[in-house]
Amino acid sequence: MTAVPETSDVKHLIGGDWRPASDGATFETRDPHDDSLLGNVARGTAADGADAITAAREAFDEGPWPRMSPKERAKILHAVADKVDEHREELSLLETRDGGKGINQAQHAEIPRVAHNLRFFADYVAMAANEAYPDGDLLSYTLYPPAGVVSAISPWNAPLMLATWKIAPALAFGNTTVLKPAPQTPLTANRFAQLALEAGLPEGVLNVVHGFGGEAVAGPLTSDPRVDRITFTGSSATGVRILQAAAPNHTPVSAEMGGKSANIVFADADLDVAVPMSIRAIFGGNGQVCLSGSRLLVQNSIMGEFLDRFTDEAKKLTVGDPKDPANFVGPLIEQKHLEKVHSYVELAESEGGKILTGGSRLTDDARAKGFYYPPTVIAGLTNDSRTAREEIFGPVETVLGFDTEDEALRIANDSPYGLAGILFTDNLNRAHRMAARWKAGTVWINTFFERDLRLPFGGEGSSGLGREGGQYSREFFTEPRAVTIRLRS
Ligand code: NAD
Repeated sequence: MTAVPETSDVKHLIGGDWRPASDGATFETRDPHDDSLLGNVARGTAADGADAITAAREAFDEGPWPRMSPKERAKILHAVADKVDEHREELSLLETRDGGKGINQAQHAEIPRVAHNLRFFADYVAMAANEAYPDGDLLSYTLYPPAGVVSAISPWNAPLMLATWKIAPALAFGNTTVLKPAPQTPLTANRFAQLALEAGLPEGVLNVVHGFGGEAVAGPLTSDPRVDRITFTGSSATGVRILQAAAPNHTPVSAEMGGKSANIVFADADLDVAVPMSIRAIFGGNGQVCLSGSRLLVQNSIMGEFLDRFTDEAKKLTVGDPKDPANFVGPLIEQKHLEKVHSYVELAESEGGKILTGGSRLTDDARAKGFYYPPTVIAGLTNDSRTAREEIFGPVETVLGFDTEDEALRIANDSPYGLAGILFTDNLNRAHRMAARWKAGTVWINTFFERDLRLPFGGEGSSGLGREGGQYSREFFTEPRAVTIRLRS
């Protein structure tokens, strides 16, 4: 195991200054492995939120950042990415302690993706082509000036990876930003901001404020007319509140929200691929992943064999200290969330579900102080049960059967959510047919979680509003402008 870094008081970063909350209030961030105290965090007030917007506004209206060429900005963002690479182990361990993230996942997937987010958008902007249409003596073209001040509000389940999925494009396109990380996981945002300043990001371009949703620090971030864009990732209920807060100012919102995605396995699938991938799709990250395949649809002709293999694999997964790379997953984020997850398991039983494995908190000596819950597999429910319709956001798989392709799609699409679809089949025609008819922002066929950042990312229905990624991020983080000039001979 790697040594644990020291943590200290966690302040806001506003216009280059590290500051406590305006009223001095703090809240605790704790380690979900043993509930030990990691740091006291500035509990942001509405005044702190407004100050951070003022700093971002000044940096946008008067500072160098929006006026730099894309190549100049790209150079600095690459330097920030280099810093992230240099500090990969430290950032990974912070993520692991603050949010219970498995160290392997942090070191080999999420923190490298932070650096990739920065490099990808830096290069995308520097190399993007603009349209130009010569038409006789008229020349028309599009400009993509930055939108202005961007509020970025992020969740706890992949803290720095999702924060930089917002900040990286916002900065690359020339905006200035105010980031509010989730209160459960504030640590990596601050370390990242320190590294960004060291790498040459001008002061005021990235501001970080901490605290809770609702009326305090998050109030101005969503309702201040000086904010030009709001990019949010979190639950669908919070997304609605943010849309309401933004509406009076007509502030555009990009919202990446919850999911209840179907993972469909056909009898013609290669089960040596489908079983381990389906395991990863629900139990990776403890099911605390928006894209989780939390409704497992298995063709009835292979239900017995598939379910035996799937349940056996689920039982073998090691759940323990996330700092130990031998463990597959760590604890859930906090006590309240553990209670929510368990309440859904109780609900499933009352709805007639049969627990095939898991189903109660792990309380042995090594795990008693933390929020540990085992992989849980539930069969015997229908798609209209609450267990199958509501987002649990934990290691709980609901297994449903189907006979035909049409039936599988009908069940998959019968959900308020529409984030992802996961499909295992060796029938190429079926794969394309289903991808075209699936209510989902992303469809994976015989794989899971692979992302090409040029493609749109987002969800349908309660899963989201708008898309980000590649050109879709350009649409959102800029104010596209049509220019037409008549040329005189
Ligand atoms: P959450 O909605 O409780 O909080 C997300 C962020 O919003 C936090 O920073 C929180 O402090 C802030 N917030 C809460 N109320 C607010 C308000 N009224 N105004 C402004 N900000 C407010 O979500 P969470 O529990 O942190 O994250 C889990 C949820 O996120 C799940 O529903 C999951 O599916 C979703 N998620 C979606 C994606 C995606 O890409 N679609 C990715 C990761 C997580």
